[in-house]
Amino acid sequence: MCPDVRVLRLFVVLLCSFVLNSPPALAQSIDLPSLGDAGSEELPPATERKLGEQIMFEVRRDPDYLSDTETSEYLNNLGYQLVAVSSSRSLDFVFFAIRDPMLNAFALPGGFIGVHTGLILAAQSESELAGVMAHEVGHVTQRHIARMLAKQRESAALALGALLLALLAARAGGSSSGDVAQAAIVGTQAALIQQQLNFSREAEREADRVGFQTLTEAGFDSRGMEAFFGRLQTGSRLYESAAPAYLRTHPMTVERISDMQNRTRNLRVKQRPDSLGFQLIRARLRVLQETTTQGWRDSLEYFNGQLKNQTTSSEIAARYGIAVAALKLNQPELAVQAAQAARRLSGAPSPVLDKVVAEARLIAARSDEERATAVQLASDNAIRFPLSSLATSHYLDVLNQTNQHEAAIQFLRNQEAIARTQPAYHALLGRSYAALNRRSLQHQSIGEMYALLGAPQAAVNQLELARRANDGDFYTMSEIDARMRDLQAEVKRNQEGIREAARREPDDRSRR
Ligand SMILES: [Zn+2]
Repeated sequence: MCPDVRVLRLFVVLLCSFVLNSPPALAQSIDLPSLGDAGSEELPPATERKLGEQIMFEVRRDPDYLSDTETSEYLNNLGYQLVAVSSSRSLDFVFFAIRDPMLNAFALPGGFIGVHTGLILAAQSESELAGVMAHEVGHVTQRHIARMLAKQRESAALALGALLLALLAARAGGSSSGDVAQAAIVGTQAALIQQQLNFSREAEREADRVGFQTLTEAGFDSRGMEAFFGRLQTGSRLYESAAPAYLRTHPMTVERISDMQNRTRNLRVKQRPDSLGFQLIRARLRVLQETTTQGWRDSLEYFNGQLKNQTTSSEIAARYGIAVAALKLNQPELAVQAAQAARRLSGAPSPVLDKVVAEARLIAARSDEERATAVQLASDNAIRFPLSSLATSHYLDVLNQTNQHEAAIQFLRNQEAIARTQPAYHALLGRSYAALNRRSLQHQSIGEMYALLGAPQAAVNQLELARRANDGDFYTMSEIDARMRDLQAEVKRNQEGIREAARREPDDRSRR
């Protein structure tokens, strides 16, 4: 028996014992779906998505997962410009950022695509960033992960098993050894997954080819991909220390580079100016990538330096950067001044700039009247950009901060930017119900959030609390009962899937 199989057995045994005997908090993250029949060529899309959701459930708790509405709105807007012309328009993609200076981007099972902040800052144009993202979209549309998981069922299970064991070890020690140890181990999880999901050289070349097509069809500068990968390859001084992560997961072979060069050689170059959004998000991430006061001071100084010799659009970005850094440094007056200057320079409404103006003015407000003005600005922004989840969630934050919880619930139910199928919708609803001390509705909402995050056991626990609180009306309480039955059935199905996997494992061994 090779060591791999032993580890797999350990993984399955641990999985079973944890799922069946552990407290729900531990079990919730590890009810992985069964990886399907051994005979099939690729993982069914629904199973792959479920797997991806469960990995994302952990990734979202990673301290380096960047939970920032500006960044995710920008990345998803850019990503969907690519998805719109790709071959899988119907697939649900989710683009997210990891706070990490290393240059890297990766695709997880199910269309979840992560981009490191370091890569966004290192891209010299929006087309370069789009080029890297188009390559990752290519891995998803060509179903590389699904095929790999199906082909190497055992090593995929191993990879996920190693990840989950690390998580469990971290969490088991979490209460006594404190958050630091947990953060250190959990912080590597996204990196761990992406290392396990190494694609073959053919897959890399195919993702390049498909990605290039997507990039040009979406109207980006076709040289974006080649320029960026080329710089990574030659390892210019700027990236020397930061580049290896991407190169490890995406080995840059001579063939890949020359393929790229051949593709662009005969193409008419299409210049594409960077969007204001690209400049703003880079300014924002320069601040958010820092986690210390000194780091924020340094970025403030950087933007002040940028102000001197720049074009209008980079002056807007620099002033926006000053506003973001000033908010971090708790200097609301400076933030208001810089934010309003950026907004004036841009000349047109922008969800990002209008938000930072309202945000800074609310913090700087010294009277009820000033506070009311800031609330009004946030409301105007949400009404002007009804499909911006940034503007919408900011207005909801403002309503929450000013104790207008009934208004927040009303607004949330009628807005269109955050769909009911998104976990955030139910999290926001739960927050308002909690503030109003309506316990059954609060736990019902949080339960719905967990269900959408792929954690049915955690959802069941919340519904249990909702039942116990028993302060909802008849309609609410029967809704909770019905939902509880569905989710319990789902938990049971998952557990049976795991038992099935454990039972099948000895057969796998006998085939060797
Ligand atoms: Zn790749």
